[in-house]
Amino acid sequence: MKIAVLPGDGIGTEIVAEAVKVLDVLDLKFEMESALVGGAAYEAHGHPLPESTLKLAKESDAVLFGAVGDWKYDKLDRPLRPEQAILGLRKNLGLFANFRPAICYEQLVDASSLKPELIAGLDILIIRELTGDIYFGQPRGRRTAVDGHFPGAEEAFDTMRYSRPEVERIARVAFEAARKRSKRVTSVDKANVLETFQFWKDIVTEIGKEYPDVELDHMYVDNAAMQLVKAPKKFDVVVTGNMFGDILSDEAAMLTGSIGMLPSASLNASNQGLYEPSHGSAPDIAGKGVANPLATILSAAMMLRFSLNQPEAADRIESAVKHVLASGLRTGDIWSEGTKRVGAREMGDAVVAAITKKTITG
Ligand code: NAD
Repeated sequence: MKIAVLPGDGIGTEIVAEAVKVLDVLDLKFEMESALVGGAAYEAHGHPLPESTLKLAKESDAVLFGAVGDWKYDKLDRPLRPEQAILGLRKNLGLFANFRPAICYEQLVDASSLKPELIAGLDILIIRELTGDIYFGQPRGRRTAVDGHFPGAEEAFDTMRYSRPEVERIARVAFEAARKRSKRVTSVDKANVLETFQFWKDIVTEIGKEYPDVELDHMYVDNAAMQLVKAPKKFDVVVTGNMFGDILSDEAAMLTGSIGMLPSASLNASNQGLYEPSHGSAPDIAGKGVANPLATILSAAMMLRFSLNQPEAADRIESAVKHVLASGLRTGDIWSEGTKRVGAREMGDAVVAAITKKTITG
């Protein structure tokens, strides 16, 4: 097993170092190789995703990614900006399925802006299709309108489109994931208005028949956005297209109130995946040693479960994180009165200690 380790920029290097430390104590046989990505790669090689980094990612079973970006690169031409590295990796590795769990840890229930009773025990999984939809559909561009409300005026347009195989494969990913959880899938669409999403709904319904043990329901995206804040625990697995998923996965993630806690995974058809925290490079706190490494550590756990077939090791990490939170340690982003404030390194050390001292079960 080979893991490409791409720390990136800002807090990326600090949090990935902690995740690597955790992986190192698991006594598993894998090779880890690091490479530059994002702004760091641009500085060294003139490109945010150099050929050598892409090659390493392609020949690895999984990529552990930190974060990329810094305000100082905002003036670069778009193809040279650090964030392009993520798009390049998604495209080149064919990462079409994005997994974003939103889990509310018992100890962090007060970090949410929702009432504790709405959020306590929350465990939902948003699955977003990542390589299709209006974000990639052609044609797109600017032109002079020949019809519409203002013929002759300047206009811009994008194309929403999905092919049958694209919808079938993401639907299967969702049903398979639901089988390992509470066996419920909610497919989110806008079938009442959009042809593309009536097509989506029809195909998800068809694929659902292959999974009679999984309960399927459909919800319009506007209602789903409301239900996520009204009664989020009603959901188990939510599957949706690229644009709706972009919005809903951020909404679901923030239900838990702590961006530093949220892992994510993006997978291709052969289960090769890119694992990264849901947050960015946080230039405002980079280099201060105060970032929360838990989202990255939990992303490493997802990597063990989904791409490296090591579910017990994943469980050990997740149990260790719960143990550390229960012991009252908190980085600044999740700190509250009565808990102990620690930095990234102490938090990583505590997770390692919980694993190696076997102070945890499960
Ligand atoms: P951000 O997620 O980096 O930061 C938002 C806020 O959350 C900041 O106040 C930050 O200090 C805090 N924060 C984020 N992660 C944290 C952690 N682990 N521990 C404690 N606090 C944390 O978003 P932003 O400020 O909008 O963007 C900063 C840079 O990151 C930009 O260049 C942006 O393009 C880039 N970005 C990259 C990714 C990625 O690499 N996948 C994702 C989003 C943004």
